[in-house]
Amino acid sequence: MSSSPAKVASAFSVDVEDYFHVEAFSRDVSRDDWPNYPSRVVANTRKLLDLLDRYRVRGTFFVLGWVAERQGELVREIRDRGHELGCHSYWHRLIYRLTPDEFREDTKRAKDAIEKAAGVATLGYRAPTFSITGASLWAIDILTECGFTFDSSIFPIHHDNYGLAGSPRDPYRIRGARGGEIVEFPISTFKMLGRDMPVAGGGYLRMLPMWYNRTGIDRMLGESRPAMVYVHPWEIDPEQPRIRTRLRSRLRHYTNLGSMQARLEHLLERYAFAPVGEILSTRRLAEYRVDDSAGALARTGTEGT
Ligand SMILES: [Zn+2]
Repeated sequence: MSSSPAKVASAFSVDVEDYFHVEAFSRDVSRDDWPNYPSRVVANTRKLLDLLDRYRVRGTFFVLGWVAERQGELVREIRDRGHELGCHSYWHRLIYRLTPDEFREDTKRAKDAIEKAAGVATLGYRAPTFSITGASLWAIDILTECGFTFDSSIFPIHHDNYGLAGSPRDPYRIRGARGGEIVEFPISTFKMLGRDMPVAGGGYLRMLPMWYNRTGIDRMLGESRPAMVYVHPWEIDPEQPRIRTRLRSRLRHYTNLGSMQARLEHLLERYAFAPVGEILSTRRLAEYRVDDSAGALARTGTEGT
C-alpha cells in the first residue's frame, strides 16, 4: 500500500467523542447540558470508518463511555469493521483534577459501557486531553486494576495542560507506585532544533504544515519507532455547530477542519498503520524496558490510596 519508510507500522487511533465534549469548551458547555447538543459523532465516526476502509487500514477507537452508552450500535460497527476498541473515560474530565476514587469510578463505568455494547474486552486506555502527567501517575495502578494492558495517554513534552517532559518516546512498561504495570504507547514527538516537538495527531496534524508532520513521522520511522496518529471525529466536520467561547479555544478547535480529511489521506497513503494493541503485541511484555521513574515519581506524590 505505502511507499517509503513503511517497514514499521505506526498506530492509527481515533478518540470517539463529540465536538461539545472537548476540554477547550468545558467552561462554556456543562456536562448536564450534553444531551441538549445535536450529536454528530455517529456520522463523523462513520466518515472515518469509510476513509480507513478505502485505505484498508485498521486502527484503535478509544470511545467515550458517555457515547458508548448512547450509541451502542456505533461501538458494534467499529468492532465489526475490524478495528480495536479502547476506552476514553466516561465524562472526559482531566485525570489530574480527579481523586483516585473518582478516576476509578469513571474508568469502570466507561469500560463497562463499551464492553456491554461491544461484547469484547477493552484493553487500551486513552486519557482525556492526555491528562496522565506527573501529578496523576497514580492512575497507572488503577488502570491495571481495571484490567487494561496498555495505555496511550502520556505526551513526552512540556505543555500547559498535559505532558510528562523527559519521559520515554518509545513504547515502554510503566510501573505504578503499587507495582501495577502497563505498556505505555506515548504520543509522538521528534527532535527538532534540540527540542522534543509534538507531531502527527489532533491539532498538530491539523494546524501545522504537512512537511512538518511528514518530517516528524519520517524521522521516527527512520529510528524504527512507530508513530501515533490520533484524530477526533469532529476534526473532519467543518459543518459542526459553533460553540460561543473565548477566541483561543475557537482558534484551536475550528482551524483547518476543512483540510483534516485530506491530511489524513496523505498519511494513509504514505505510511503503514495498525491498531495499537496489535503493534504492541509484536513484542513480548518482558522485552519492553521498564520506566520506574514514573513509579518513583508517583511514590513521592501526594496521592496514596
Ligand atoms: Zn478527548
